[in-house]
Amino acid sequence: MTAAPDEFALIAELFAPLSSGYPGALGLTDDAAIIGECAGSEIIITVDAIVAGVHFFSDDPADLVARKLIRVNLSDLAAKGARPFAVLLAAAFPIDVGREWLEGFAAGLRQDLERWGVALIGGDTVATPGPLTLSLTALGRAGPGGMVRRSGGRAGDTLWVSGTIGDGALGLKVLRGELAGLSPDHATALVGRYRLPEPRVELGRELAGLVHAGMDVSDGLDQDLGHLCRASGVAATIEAALVPLSPAARAALLRDRSLLASLLQGGDDYELLFAAPASAEPALRNAATAVGVPITPIGRLAEGEGVRVVDESGAELALSSGGWRHFRGV
Ligand code: ADP
Ligand code: MG
Repeated sequence: MTAAPDEFALIAELFAPLSSGYPGALGLTDDAAIIGECAGSEIIITVDAIVAGVHFFSDDPADLVARKLIRVNLSDLAAKGARPFAVLLAAAFPIDVGREWLEGFAAGLRQDLERWGVALIGGDTVATPGPLTLSLTALGRAGPGGMVRRSGGRAGDTLWVSGTIGDGALGLKVLRGELAGLSPDHATALVGRYRLPEPRVELGRELAGLVHAGMDVSDGLDQDLGHLCRASGVAATIEAALVPLSPAARAALLRDRSLLASLLQGGDDYELLFAAPASAEPALRNAATAVGVPITPIGRLAEGEGVRVVDESGAELALSSGGWRHFRGV
């Protein structure tokens, strides 16, 4: 038997060819596809699935599972500068799921759908002998300049990220009992970021029109930046010391320097990564201030290919494990 390709090779080799003839699919190299235009706005679509035991713990509160499902999808729309307006839910519930759990799940859906003014417009409901598996398809309206692509980055652009990086990955470590010695407040903050990411919907809207390229960071900063670079045909260098960390992540890193790789590669950030010309800096900072989400320059795009992470002296850091992939190939 031939080994299965890893997730990205699988998509590139076996699925991307099936998108040919549909330009809005962007060759399956972006966070969302463009399916049409309505009143001058591009309508874009994205889908993400989450699975018990992979993306959340099977005993996580039902409402938080629902809200994470919505948020990981809204994060993709946010990165494209789009305003979400509708979702479809395909749910495979374990056969023994109870009514109470389902009510909690529906309450969580309601809470976040109302927060972002989004309607549930369809879906499918099945029972499964396996783990709870949820897929959400989300639709959004891009801004006046069209969808922000991964492919627009240019050599010389500054690379920015929103919020802080690495908290979700550390939160997962806390839940797994792999991160001892943190204060209870810090541990709670990290777990909160893992369980309930904050999609940067309002920031994404503000950035559209100012940036050359953007995506959300869901599979690890290092790996996702690699996707942006490939789509844009450029190289990137980021300085590890510039990557914004929360107080909790800083405290964890102080105790154990080797956590740096987890922070940069771990995934579950759901922050925005974007590339913009240096001249856009004042407008970007104004936009970030307007929505109350910090943004930080972390590096630069250049001619070439590949992602380099360097320390303060410019020496390249070797990050060994790569980012999160569902199929690593066997
Ligand atoms: P994201 O992390 O932004 O959700 P992914 O890494 O999951 O993006 O996917 C990368 C690209 O591959 C996207 O364009 C996505 O639509 C596409 N893709 C992923 N899995 C499949 C699949 N099973 N069939 C078709 N397209 C897929
Ligand atoms: Mg994405």
